[in-house]
Amino acid sequence: MAELFIDGEWRQAVAGGRRDVSNPFDASVITTVDEADETDVDIAVRAAKRAFERADWSSAPTRERADVLWRVHELLLRDQEEIARTETLDTGKTLTEARIDIEDVANAFRYYAELAGKDGGRVVDVGPDVLSRVVYNPVGVCCLIAPWNYPLLQASWKVAPALAAGNTFVLKPSETTPLSTIAMIRLIAEAGAPPGVANLVLGSGATVGSAMTTHPEVDLVSFTGGLATGRKIMEGVAPGVRNLALELGGKNPNVVFDDADFAAAVDYALDAAFLHSGQVCSAGSRLLVQEGVHDEFVEALGARASAIRLGNGLEPMTESGPLSSAEHRAKVEGYLEIAREEGARLVTGGRRPDDPELANGYFLLPTVYADCDRSMRIVQEEIFGPVVTVERFRTEDEAVELANDTRYGLASGVWTSDAGRAQRVANRLRHGTVWINDFHPYVPQAEWGGFGRSGIGRELGPTGLREYQEAKHIYQNLSPAPSGWFKG
Ligand code: NAD
Repeated sequence: MAELFIDGEWRQAVAGGRRDVSNPFDASVITTVDEADETDVDIAVRAAKRAFERADWSSAPTRERADVLWRVHELLLRDQEEIARTETLDTGKTLTEARIDIEDVANAFRYYAELAGKDGGRVVDVGPDVLSRVVYNPVGVCCLIAPWNYPLLQASWKVAPALAAGNTFVLKPSETTPLSTIAMIRLIAEAGAPPGVANLVLGSGATVGSAMTTHPEVDLVSFTGGLATGRKIMEGVAPGVRNLALELGGKNPNVVFDDADFAAAVDYALDAAFLHSGQVCSAGSRLLVQEGVHDEFVEALGARASAIRLGNGLEPMTESGPLSSAEHRAKVEGYLEIAREEGARLVTGGRRPDDPELANGYFLLPTVYADCDRSMRIVQEEIFGPVVTVERFRTEDEAVELANDTRYGLASGVWTSDAGRAQRVANRLRHGTVWINDFHPYVPQAEWGGFGRSGIGRELGPTGLREYQEAKHIYQNLSPAPSGWFKG
């Protein structure tokens, strides 16, 4: 087996490196894959560069590229079940969720297939003697780096627009969850992308990721992952002055007013906080509840959270799977200790489950902390696990102030039956997505990304395509004549 895909061929890592890929449900090894190093990265980036300079992709008629994207969409739906099972094995998420992920991946390809070629630029009205056009060219060789929580979904939000715009790319999934990405690259090749257009390297962030982001032939870096890694990548990219897009973390407030539909708000507060064990960049892990319903809300939330069925993502009864790795669970457990030190009131959870069937997996019980306040680290820092903090507020102004008191700004939720208040609050919140009486939905047509430290740039929507394009102004003087500027 060979799992690196470079210049249209499956290859082994030059130095022969391999890495185990394991299932977080029981720590069993699923398979081993190639582990690249700087040499493989260099070969892949140069292949992408050569492919970009050939005319068969970057300068091909847009329709041809769109056809490839359409075929990828169809192939993803053909293989949806198999890829979803792979995603569940690799991440621990439930199969139901993984199926939705893969459908959303296919939808991203369809959306960018439809968008490709729709925008031929614009003509600027300068006057009768000038033809002035703004057109959009591909950026060049893109370095795409994805995280482990939504391995294929996050990769597709980069790959689909990058291809639609006519770029070539080198993609690296997280070293812990590469399997669905390998499957997608097979489908892109099957769909007819020319050799060197889509390249895949596997390996660690420190070695492979950093070699990619600092490679001199890379024109654009698009990264989804943690804030600390984003900073490092920014530093690495700075000397080469490349295009950079960062989708980073979040600490997302979910604001519940007294007049909200109580049952719906409780239900969605659970989804917001505990979907995929809270390992979601837009998780509603910071709940703000107005004083009139606060106590009743916390009680209902605690009772529902403690009833979430943990287990193997492949089992239909399972509602939530494990955390992604032993190291990640240890990090989340560190926050449970911090919560104790900070004096938060534990409502439910706060430890590993007792069930012996879960003992080999990286499980933690869904955890609710009440009596929290904005000064606490557990309220301000991204825990990225099944942990939600609850703060109490009195007025609309206070709710907005608290919700905006975060260094992040990815997403937020507002629960109220007052339409005016809903819009007022949404307008004042400084987050890239605001859900009203809902939580978590996203659509490929609408931009995704964050204010503040949640990142730079946007994915999805028309802006998600622009990230992979350079604007070019073509100005033609239609009646050239001597200018007479210099008199000598
Ligand atoms: P991470 O930052 O540890 O790793 C992300 C990717 O970067 C991996 O492929 C990793 O190998 C690579 N990487 C690590 N160090 C690198 C380096 N020095 N140079 C280049 N690449 C490097 O993040 P993670 O733990 O995989 O993912 C979780 C984080 O991702 C959370 O903070 C989450 O909020 C964020 N996230 C954000 C979004 C979003 O849309 N904003 C979506 C999903 C996840």
